[in-house]
Amino acid sequence: MIAGLMTELIQHWIGGRAVGTAGARQDVFNPATGQVARQVLLASAADVASAVGSAREAFPAWANTPPVRRARVLTRFLARLNEERDALAGLITSEHGKVFSDAQGEVTRGIEIVEFACGIPQLLKGDFTDQVSTGIDNWTLRQPLGVVAGVTPFNFPCMVPCWMFPIAIACGNTFVLKPSERDPSAALFMARLLTEAGLPAGAFNVVQGDKTAVDALLEHPDVKAVSFVGSTPIAQSIYQRGAQAGKRVQALGGAKNHMVVMPDADLEQAVDALIGAAYGSAGERCMAISVAVLVGDSADRIMPALAARVRQLRVANGMERDAQMGPVINRAALERIRGYIEDGAASGAQLLVDGRRDPSSGAAFTVAGHEDGFWLGGTLFDHVTPKMRIYREEIFGPVLACVRVPDFAAAVELVNAHPLANGVACYTRDGHVAREFGRRIEVGMVGINIPIPVPMAWHGFGGWKSSLFGDTHAYGEEGVRFYTRQKSIMQRWPESTGKGAEFAMPTAK
Ligand code: NAD
Repeated sequence: MIAGLMTELIQHWIGGRAVGTAGARQDVFNPATGQVARQVLLASAADVASAVGSAREAFPAWANTPPVRRARVLTRFLARLNEERDALAGLITSEHGKVFSDAQGEVTRGIEIVEFACGIPQLLKGDFTDQVSTGIDNWTLRQPLGVVAGVTPFNFPCMVPCWMFPIAIACGNTFVLKPSERDPSAALFMARLLTEAGLPAGAFNVVQGDKTAVDALLEHPDVKAVSFVGSTPIAQSIYQRGAQAGKRVQALGGAKNHMVVMPDADLEQAVDALIGAAYGSAGERCMAISVAVLVGDSADRIMPALAARVRQLRVANGMERDAQMGPVINRAALERIRGYIEDGAASGAQLLVDGRRDPSSGAAFTVAGHEDGFWLGGTLFDHVTPKMRIYREEIFGPVLACVRVPDFAAAVELVNAHPLANGVACYTRDGHVAREFGRRIEVGMVGINIPIPVPMAWHGFGGWKSSLFGDTHAYGEEGVRFYTRQKSIMQRWPESTGKGAEFAMPTAK
C-alpha cells in the first residue's frame, strides 16, 4: 500500500502532487457497510482552471519528448501498476462494492491498455511517399492535440480512465481526469504511480468533483478534446456542448445488452453465461447482459435452472473469498432499482425471483453483519415485452429481463429496434446462424458464445446508436487517432525546383 493513500479526504492531483482546497466536499461510502469511508473534494471552476493551467504548462516539453522516452515512462508505470494490482483492487472494492476478483480483473483490463500504449513509437509511425512528383516527397505525421480531458463513471474507476489517459499521454498530450465522485480514490492512486514512474509534473492531473467540474472542463478554451463515459443523456449533452465549443469529443453512453439463446445452444453454458453476465458486478457493467432473448422452446427449457441459480447467488461483502455479487453503489441506486422491480411487476411481467426479498425466508433482503449496506439480491423477470419500461430503459442493477421470441428473425429484429446498442451476444452451435448474427446485428460489440465481448486493448471499444456519440471508439488505434491530429508535409529542395511561377493547379510531373 502506498503511504499516505488512506487519508480521510480525497484530494485533487495537480502539478504532480495532491492538492487540497477549502471548498465543497462529499461523502464516499463503502457500499458493503453503508458507512462513510472517506470524503472527496468537489472542484470549483477555479480548481479546474488550475489543473488545466498545469497541464497546459507541461504540454510543450512533454509533446517534444521523443515517443520512445514517453513509452519508457509508461513502461515504469506498467511495472508499478502490476506491483500494486491487489492494493488498487482492494481500494476499488472498498468504494465500488464489486467482488475482489472482479476488481482484480478490472485492473488487469486497465493494465492491458497501458501495455498497448507502451508501443506508441510504432503506433505514431507516419506514412511516407517518395517522389510524389519529380523531386517532391510527401509524408504524414500525427501530432498531439494539447490538453485533453477525461470524465469517467463510477462502475470502472480504474479500467475506464485507463481507456483514455495512457494513450493520450503516450501520444504527447497532457491530461486532466475527472473521475466519478462516488469512487474517486483509484484515480489518485494511479496519479501517484505515474509520478513515481517519472511522468513530469502537470502531464497528468486529477480534479475531483461533479457537474460543476465537468462544466468547467467543457467551457475551458485550453481543453482541446473530451472523452466521456457514463449514462446516455449526459453523454449526449457532453457531445453536443463539447462540439459547440469546438472540441473533439467521444462520449460513450449507456447500454441494454441482449443475449440471444438459440434452441440448439448448449443450455448449461447459456445459463452460466447469463448468471455471470447479468449478476456479476451487481449488473453495474456497461457490458452486463440485462435482456435474455429466448428463442423457441429454449425459454421453457432454460427457465427452471436459471431461476434456481439466481436464488443461489452468493451475495456478500466483495472482500469475502466466495462472494459472487457485492452491493450496489449507493442508496439512490438501490431505490432506483427497487422502483424498476416494482414497475416491472406492475406492468405484467412475471417476477420469478424478487431481489428485494430473501429467497428462502421472504424477509427484506440483507446480508448478515452488514445490515446498513446497499444490498439487493438477483432479480429475474420472465414474459417481458418490448413496451415495458424494464425492457426499454437501462436499469444498471442485478435484474435480468427475459423476452420470448418465436425465431431467429424475431430475435434480430428485437435487438436491432433498441436504441441502445453497446454489446450483444448469441449462444448457438450453428455456424450459419452465428455468421448471420454477426453480420446483421446493429450493435457495436458482438459475442458469439461469449457473453461479455469487451474488445482487447488493440481492437478499440465502442457501441453504436445511443451508446456512443462521436466518430471514434475508445482505445486501440482509434484511440490514437482521437488523441492526435494528422499533418501532411510536402517537401522539395532548390536543386529540383524549376524556374518561373506556376499558375495552374499543381499536378504530379
Ligand atoms: P453518470 O452519467 O451519472 O456519470 C458519469 C460522469 O459524469 C461522472 O464523472 C459524473 O460525475 C459526471 N456527471 C454526472 N452528472 C453530470 C451532469 N449532469 N453533467 C456533467 N457531468 C455529469 O454515470 P455513472 O452512474 O457514473 O455510470 C453508469 C453509467 O455509465 C451507465 O449508464 C453505464 O452504462 C455507463 N457506462 C458506459 C460505458 C460504455 O463504455 N458505453 C462504460 C461504463 C459505464
